[in-house]
Amino acid sequence: MKQFFRIVFLLLLPLLFLCGCAGPSADRNAGSLQGQEPRQVHSEGTAMGTVIQQNIYTRGEDCTEDIAELITGLEEDTFSWRLETSELYRLNQAAGSAGGTELTDEMAQILRQCLELTEASGGAFDIAIGPVARLWDIDGWAAGEREGEFRPPDGEALSRALALCGSRRIRLQTDADPEAGGEVTLFYSEAGTELDLGAVGKGAALTHILKYLESDSDITGAVVSVGGSVLTYGEKPDKSLWKIGIVDPADPKRNLGILTLEGQWCISTSGDYERFAEADGVRYHHILDPATGYPARSGLSSVTVVTKDGLLSDALATACFVLGEEKGTELAKRYGAEALFVGESGEITMTSGMEKLFQRR
Ligand code: ADP
Ligand code: MG
Repeated sequence: MKQFFRIVFLLLLPLLFLCGCAGPSADRNAGSLQGQEPRQVHSEGTAMGTVIQQNIYTRGEDCTEDIAELITGLEEDTFSWRLETSELYRLNQAAGSAGGTELTDEMAQILRQCLELTEASGGAFDIAIGPVARLWDIDGWAAGEREGEFRPPDGEALSRALALCGSRRIRLQTDADPEAGGEVTLFYSEAGTELDLGAVGKGAALTHILKYLESDSDITGAVVSVGGSVLTYGEKPDKSLWKIGIVDPADPKRNLGILTLEGQWCISTSGDYERFAEADGVRYHHILDPATGYPARSGLSSVTVVTKDGLLSDALATACFVLGEEKGTELAKRYGAEALFVGESGEITMTSGMEKLFQRR
């Protein structure tokens, strides 16, 4: 009997070899030690107050739990405005203290990028929006964390909160050449000023996820979404391109169309349908206009931005939403990013580069 199996095995061996060679990834894997076809691992969970979806092609272990932990770690250690463990929390606690607070290299880099975007967007994007964002607490209402009926804040409370907002109330000071490892200190001019990294945390997480994916040679391709920010990486085993749906703001269960992308990109969408609360039939969403303190009304329902960098795509999506289509297009172009705008009545406009990526449903 044993002999029989040995013969069958020997007869099948060339066939198995041929199958392997005929597979779409055979050439690519020729030099690989593992040599086998990557398998797809999938996971869905929540972190950073949003849905995390992972689709990863790997020849190794299922890494989705590691990536989920990485995102949770970023929230706990860096981005959360409410968890006492985070760097942002400690910075906000020290607002107004004379000595300022020394930053980690990562936070220094994030704040530099954010301040540059505030400048470039003429203040439409501004992370020093904490007091107004806390007053509205749209995220809290949208997540069902608050009891009772939503009411927009009254004008006086809003003016008081707005008086504490604005990046001109913070300052970064570097005591040496940053390339030489100089320490960066953050100063707030007033107590009560509060930074909010809600507009960039998910995008910034993509950069960490990308580094993780790049560090594992078993991983050949991936699509990971952290809420409205999506990272594409590598390729699928059949080499077909990545397809990312653009949500229809009027009916978020449906897609307006599809973006087709190769390799590594970051795609971020900011929309009025993502988080909102309603009062007297009016919808108040969570993207605020720093000029007024009210939810931005620029004629748009959503903006999608495609760039190589995660923080940038996330920040630009928020900034372009506040700025509206015309100024938003200018800003996206300045950063070499592609943008797609969905107007309040559903009309779609986009940069010329985006036209090559987007296909209407
Ligand atoms: P999402 O969190 O759904 O991805 P955004 O990336 O557009 O949406 O970020 C919205 C969050 O950013 C808000 O919940 C708030 O914390 C903060 N925010 C709101 N308006 C602004 C703004 N104009 N500039 C910077 N941050 C903002
Ligand atoms: Mg954003």
